[in-house]
Amino acid sequence: MVVAQHKVVSIHYKVVDDDSDELIDSSETGDPMTYLHGARNLIPGLEQALEGKQAGDALEVTVEAADAYGEYSEDRVHQVPREALAEVERVEPGVTVVANTEQGPVNLVIVEVGDEEVKLDANHPLAGRRLRFDVSVEQVRDATEEEISHGHAHGPGGHHHD
Ligand SMILES: [Zn+2]
Repeated sequence: MVVAQHKVVSIHYKVVDDDSDELIDSSETGDPMTYLHGARNLIPGLEQALEGKQAGDALEVTVEAADAYGEYSEDRVHQVPREALAEVERVEPGVTVVANTEQGPVNLVIVEVGDEEVKLDANHPLAGRRLRFDVSVEQVRDATEEEISHGHAHGPGGHHHD
């Protein structure tokens, strides 16, 4: 069975920064990651590369920033008055705050704290980075109707409901 729309796929993966070789994430110490293919649960570049693969296949995929977590954009760096963060407990660099916007909650990282203004960065932490994945396909199965209607995989390595 090959990876295609509405298949549930389990993969082991390791992802590094393609420029620095810094290890970013790996599934090797735990269960494989299980996802519903074609439901945008993976970054687009990786999902495309897995199309047509089957259990036992191994692949190395390099994904440009634009097909991973996006280009780094200065437009996502904002200066706000300190009083806008009056309810935030610790206002210091590296702290993530959540802003509620019309598009839903957005994570912003505090990058600089001035006397009157605070600089916040809404770029994804991996924005602007070209990533290299080592992937092995462990299992491919049909999705259940419930999984298709939920838009994600259930079971070990997949989505858990409370
Ligand atoms: Zn569900």
